[in-house]
Amino acid sequence: MIYLPFYKMTNTIQNYEWGSKTAMQGLFAFKNKTQQTQAELWMGAHANGCSLLSTGEGVIKLSDFIAQDPHLILGKKTADEFGQLPYLFKVLAAEKALSVQVHPNKQQAQAGFAKENKLAVPHNAFNRNYKDANHKPEVVFALTEYLAMNGFRDMQQIVEYFQPINILEIKPLLQAFSADFTAGGLQDFFQAMLLLEGGRKTRAVQALMVYAQDNLHQPLFSLIAELGRQYPGDIGLFSPLMMNVLTLQPGEAMFLDACTPHAYIKGTGLEIMANSDNVLRAGLTPKYIDVPELLANTIFCSKAAEDLLLKPQADAGWQNYVVPVSDFKLSIADNVEDLCVKVNSAEIIFAVDAPVRLSHRDENTITINKGESLFIPAYAGDYQVSSSGQLARAYN
Ligand SMILES: [Zn+2]
Repeated sequence: MIYLPFYKMTNTIQNYEWGSKTAMQGLFAFKNKTQQTQAELWMGAHANGCSLLSTGEGVIKLSDFIAQDPHLILGKKTADEFGQLPYLFKVLAAEKALSVQVHPNKQQAQAGFAKENKLAVPHNAFNRNYKDANHKPEVVFALTEYLAMNGFRDMQQIVEYFQPINILEIKPLLQAFSADFTAGGLQDFFQAMLLLEGGRKTRAVQALMVYAQDNLHQPLFSLIAELGRQYPGDIGLFSPLMMNVLTLQPGEAMFLDACTPHAYIKGTGLEIMANSDNVLRAGLTPKYIDVPELLANTIFCSKAAEDLLLKPQADAGWQNYVVPVSDFKLSIADNVEDLCVKVNSAEIIFAVDAPVRLSHRDENTITINKGESLFIPAYAGDYQVSSSGQLARAYN
């Protein structure tokens, strides 16, 4: 086949039950005749939902295309370091909260994956934590108001939120924590909460829900009441008291670092992540919670609210969201005319809210509409891009 500079992508939509039936339809006019929950649009080469490329002679799976010549298509550096497209780019539309979770760092993922392989835990087993040997840093960029939790709150503040609820089962834990505002104190408190069982857990959650109902005027407790309808009886209903709760405004972004608890609650955004499925859950989920493994992969320190947002760096028409990992980069541009872009790796361009036109040395020109994406192999070298709206660029 002839190698082109641009390939229009056909992407998989994942219909997870927490997804929105209307968000992607509203933003990108995606058809949804059967009223499915459209949770995630996947742009990438992941085996569970690989994008298809239009070649002019038919379609080819992105993973098969890359396999034809990884050095040429990914670029030598990326091919040598990763051997595959190192990122997965998504649109994520949450109507319901996703689980509270932590991702391991690279070393922990390698060790955990090797250990579970040695123990012969089947890959699809209920209690399998490590699906691969990779870390899973994530960046989320809000397209609508986007409600999320990220990192532990200030420890004094955690105690101040718990105290007035006055839950018998938690009182001794809270007293011990109040006398020990250290990483160890926070870990002990967090662990003891997760290990509440049977009647103690039921009574504690019930007391929280009663308090939340009586305090709906406070946004935090109105959130807990709402989460209580989504995940009745779940120990994760306490997590908004322990974690920073924030609403990203459209155009704001945040980085989800390894070993930091987080959860997406509601909203639509772009998400880019390393190619991994390693998730350790900590609540708001019917799935498996491996408490010891979770604790071993969590850093118990408070994260200041002002450090939660990722500040973009402006450069040559782009807003660059710089992260401390080599797996991916994300840049956003708004209203650009013939912006020249140099290509060093395989890229994906996503049109957010208006058509995007790309041209390659005046020979090839292609236009995509909002909600559509293009794959640009590293060999393209450079291109020019124009749009009267917003576009996102994933690369590494
Ligand atoms: Zn995550």
